[in-house]
Amino acid sequence: MNLALKNTDMLARLPQVRGGYREQADLADVSWFRVGGCADILFSPADEADLQIFLANCPEEIPVTVLGACSNTLVRDGGVPGVVIKLGRPFGDIIIGSDGQVDAGAAVPDLMLSKQVANAELSGLEFFRGIPGTVGGALRMNAGAYGNDTATVLSHAYAYDRNGKRHEIQAHEMGFDYRHCALPQDLIFTAARFQTVPGDKQKILAQMEEISASREDTQPIKTRTGGSTFKNPGGADPEGLKAWKLIDAAGCRGLTQGDAQISELHCNFLINHGNASAADLETLGEVVRQRVKDHSGVTLQWEIKRIGREAM
Ligand SMILES: Cc1cc2nc3c(=O)[nH]c(=O)nc-3n(C[C@H](O)[C@H](O)[C@H](O)COP(=O)(O)OP(=O)(O)OC[C@H]3O[C@@H](n4cnc5c(N)ncnc54)[C@H](O)[C@@H]3O)c2cc1C
Repeated sequence: MNLALKNTDMLARLPQVRGGYREQADLADVSWFRVGGCADILFSPADEADLQIFLANCPEEIPVTVLGACSNTLVRDGGVPGVVIKLGRPFGDIIIGSDGQVDAGAAVPDLMLSKQVANAELSGLEFFRGIPGTVGGALRMNAGAYGNDTATVLSHAYAYDRNGKRHEIQAHEMGFDYRHCALPQDLIFTAARFQTVPGDKQKILAQMEEISASREDTQPIKTRTGGSTFKNPGGADPEGLKAWKLIDAAGCRGLTQGDAQISELHCNFLINHGNASAADLETLGEVVRQRVKDHSGVTLQWEIKRIGREAM
C-alpha cells in the first residue's frame, strides 16, 4: 500500500513524455534469468527527443537505470528503485552506409546486427552472432568473443547524460577495457557507428555458423542464465587465468542453492532451473567466490551486473 502511494507520488513528479510510463513493471519478464522484482516505473521513450526531455526534467533524486536485453544483469528480488528505461523500436534501426560504416540503434540485438552486416557482405561483426544482448549493452560491457570485442570495431557512440545533454564519444574516449567501459554510469547510449570491411558473404556466414555451433556445444545457452558470471582474472588474454577453471578446481561445478545451479556444462554460468530467486543465484555466486578464494587465493569479480533492492 505504502509502496503504491510512493510510486504514484513519483509518477506525478516525472516530466510529461510521449512514450509510456508503467508502474510496478515486472522485470523478471524481460530478464534472461527470469528472476527479480519490479521497476518502480518503467519508461519506454517514444524517440530520442522524448528521452532527452525526460532526462532534462527528471528530478535529480529519482534514480534512473537503463536496461538492454537484460542478458548480463541480475535484478534483485526487491525490484529496482526509481525509473528503469528500456529503449525499444525507435532505437532499433540499422543503416549500412558507404565505406563499411554501420549505424545501429542502442536497442538493436547484436545477433540481428551481425546477420544484416553479413548479408551486406561486410566483415568484422561476426563475433556478435553469439552474444544475446543489445548494442547499448555491448557498449557498456565491451562485449566480445572469439578474440574480438566492441572496442575493436567501434568508430563512435552517441549518448545522453543525466541532464539530457547529447554526446558524441569516439572509441578511444570510451575507456574500454576487458568487459568494461569507464564512462560515467549515468550515460545512456542511443546509437553507435561501427567500422567493417568488405568480406566474402559465404565465408562470413560460415564463421557465424561455427560460432553458433561452438556455443551450443560449450555453453548452456538454452537455459535461464546471465552469460559469464565472473570476469576471467586473466582478462581477454587467451593464455590468461580463466574463471571457469578456478571454479572447477574449487569443486563448484554443479553446485546448487535452491533451484540455482552452477552449470555442469560451463561452470562460469549460473542457471535458474525454474524457481530460483535472485537471492538464490547471488548467494550461490558468493559461495563460489569464497570457495575459489579459499582454494586458489584469487578473488573473482562479478561480470554480471547486480541491480536493485533485496527482498524485504
Ligand atoms: C547465453 C549467454 C551468452 C553470453 N555470451 C557472451 C559473450 O560471449 N560475450 C560477452 O561479452 N557477453 C556475453 N553474454 C553477456 C551479455 O549478453 C553481454 O554482456 C551483453 O553485451 C549485455 O547486453 P544487454 O543488452 O543484455 O545488457 P543488459 O544486461 O541489459 O545491461 C548490462 C549493462 O549495460 C547497461 N546498458 C544496457 N543498455 C544500455 C544503454 N543503452 N546505455 C547505457 N548502458 C546500457 C546496463 O545498465 C547494465 O549496466 C552472454 C549472455 C548470455 C545469457
